[in-house]
Amino acid sequence: MPELPEVEALAAYLRERAVGHIVERFEVSSFSALKTYDPAPSAVAGLPVTGAGRHGKFLDVSLGDELHLVVHLARAGWLHYRDAFKSPAPLKPGSGPIALRVRLDDGSGFDLTEAGTQKSLAAYLVRDPAEVPGVSRLGPDALAVSRDEFAERIRGRNGQIKGVLTDQEVLAGIGNAYSDEILHVARMSPFALTGKLTDEQITTLYEATRQVETDAVTRSVGQKAAELKGEKRAGMRVHARTGLPCPVCGDTVREVSFADKSLQYCPTCQTGGKPLADRRLSKLIR
Ligand SMILES: [Zn+2]
Repeated sequence: MPELPEVEALAAYLRERAVGHIVERFEVSSFSALKTYDPAPSAVAGLPVTGAGRHGKFLDVSLGDELHLVVHLARAGWLHYRDAFKSPAPLKPGSGPIALRVRLDDGSGFDLTEAGTQKSLAAYLVRDPAEVPGVSRLGPDALAVSRDEFAERIRGRNGQIKGVLTDQEVLAGIGNAYSDEILHVARMSPFALTGKLTDEQITTLYEATRQVETDAVTRSVGQKAAELKGEKRAGMRVHARTGLPCPVCGDTVREVSFADKSLQYCPTCQTGGKPLADRRLSKLIR
């Protein structure tokens, strides 16, 4: 799932490549992906791309002075920039993984795609990004808070640190992958309770968050959009590396599975050498 660094990189790529060009056509192939109907998709044609940025994990493409195309890429969504499209024919409804296509006046443009059968990519055509429910509820950006604001946000939500860090209303931009990395750098158990963190631990966690997210942004920005995904996995220390050695201590990276996701951690670095109970597994045993 694209998180803060990948979405930041996509925005940077669009700023460099698409800004200044006029939208020739905005094509909707998956009507379930476009969550708004007013303004109509036809309102986009003829508008210049005036900017690209993000709100947490939401990508925001500014169109003229009046419209924004805001996109949440969800788990398997991505933006593919095309220097040229193979065919001038409009997309057919429900045509494969492409949900939306934006064609620009220089013949280039981009597709918003979603792999797999579970379709949850969400696009919104709005006059103000705050009209998007997920955007209006976002907490401050994970890279924009001071240490004290960070402490206040984290302590304001009681719970296990893994869940609190990835709660977009607490801090915007951190997802499942980079939270694994942050907790590994901070040498903290994903199940540590926020209410019990000392000032020193909060500072360590804050610094780890900045380090992990900033490094990932630096790695991602400047790459071709098509290469971004592979790079994410390659730069990871524990995330998606179950069974592989921890790059810090050599212990085996372990995993805790939940119904629809999993987390990875290093026991030696993070939990005093003790493996965490795998909830799915322990339920079976009982
Ligand atoms: Zn380790």
